Amino acid sequence: MAIATVNPATGAVERSFDAHTPGQVEEKIAAAYTRWRSYRTSTFAQRSAWMVAAAELLESEADTVAAVMTTEMGKTLASARAEALKCASAMRFYADRAEGLLRDEPADPSTVGAVRAYAAYQPLGVVLAVMPWNFPLWQVVRFAAPALMAGNVGLLKHASNVPQTALYLEDLYRRAGFPDGCFQTLLISSSDVERVLRDDRVAAATLTGSEPAGRSVAAIAGDEVKHTVLELGGSDPFVVMPSADLARAVEVAVTARVQNNGQSCIAAKRFIVHADVYDEFAQRFVEAMSALTVGDPMDADTQVGPLATEQGRKDVEDLVADAVAEGARVLCGGSRIDGAGWFYPPTVIADISAHMEMYAAEVFGPVASLFRVADIDEAIEVANATSFGLGSNAWTADPGEQARFVADLEAGAVFVNGMTTSHPELPFGGIKRSGYGRELSAHGIREFCNIKTVWVGE
Ligand code: NAP
Repeated sequence: MAIATVNPATGAVERSFDAHTPGQVEEKIAAAYTRWRSYRTSTFAQRSAWMVAAAELLESEADTVAAVMTTEMGKTLASARAEALKCASAMRFYADRAEGLLRDEPADPSTVGAVRAYAAYQPLGVVLAVMPWNFPLWQVVRFAAPALMAGNVGLLKHASNVPQTALYLEDLYRRAGFPDGCFQTLLISSSDVERVLRDDRVAAATLTGSEPAGRSVAAIAGDEVKHTVLELGGSDPFVVMPSADLARAVEVAVTARVQNNGQSCIAAKRFIVHADVYDEFAQRFVEAMSALTVGDPMDADTQVGPLATEQGRKDVEDLVADAVAEGARVLCGGSRIDGAGWFYPPTVIADISAHMEMYAAEVFGPVASLFRVADIDEAIEVANATSFGLGSNAWTADPGEQARFVADLEAGAVFVNGMTTSHPELPFGGIKRSGYGRELSAHGIREFCNIKTVWVGE
């Protein structure tokens, strides 16, 4: 895959980049490792000052970098700007909290025969981050802010279609004051990841992306006995029960499905609705999805922009075609918008059954599947009938049902009467084929730490 900015709204190649040569990659790994040996002893106060400076720069440059993101992957300009500001706020969160989150944890020394005993959190070293294009700033920052604050250094292999955003991030951290080598971007193809990951100077890796990419990186890391965090795909359920506030559920369902032009790992993808409210939900949902404005993502009125790549649109088309051929019904949308760019309309599909690919696959575009269920048992069964387990949503005013969904939905998160979102304060991650490990919160900053047991005797 070429390393290039190809505008999804027009299909035009705007900028191409040469991949780094093996010699350049070696220089960057060496610089990262050398830097880590001194950076690991820098104080929290110093790292915090650099991180706050990065947040300030990002806030002041939000408009500029938002335009770059929109040009590279097609999200609306408003959502790109919001993403930049969210990144700045996560940077501030870890700048403020890292020291407290990584404070030594004392144990009762008398129970272990020591004078003093505690767990210490120490940085692991050089961490390789393999990242996707869909939230091209956020996915990187939610790894980099805690990792850098913990005393690690980062090497970023970003998706090949967002090179300008990748280079911006390297530049941002350098201008904020982080010493050279703390955060570097590698312009390499996915096939070059293995060489970097196997390098003895690289301690660990994090990958956000598809299941095949995760499996490949985890296999190599496993062979090298290196720690990994995997944030992979999702096919999140959105369950609606009769007691739900239907108007709000419909409104949120639309946002939850079409956010980021339908290309979010935690987008609600399967809408599982109780038979008592199915017809009303379906009618209102289809109306609202059909009313969305699709168009140029730079335009302030646009609610849904193009898909990020030509292949991405083809993947969506293939899943819809398979479902329709097998008897599913298209309630709105369902075929590409002709003309330049990779536009696909908001789409709702009903009568999905288990033998269709769409039943279990992740649809990475603005396509919602609707399921009618008889009761909460069937709702939970359908919700869990996927190999993924990232986020989940349940809409009900009944406290007993709420408790049941919290207990039984197989996912890394459950949002009751709300949309799955990520917050620096809350852990983020999945189970099953959605991956393992956690980002954000205290859990995220401890992922790339050596939890060292310290025992001191007389
Ligand atoms: P992708 O094709 O897996 O790419 C993600 C990253 O992995 C890119 O940098 C890509 O590089 C690299 N890559 C691909 N194959 C690889 C391999 N065999 N070895 C090493 N690196 C490899 O995924 P995507 O299409 O960009 O992103 C969409 C997927 O990401 C969806 O499944 C979505 O759900 C998931 N996602 C998950 C989360 C989460 O937090 N759980 C968040 C966002 C997205 P190239 O670009 O050079 O191929």
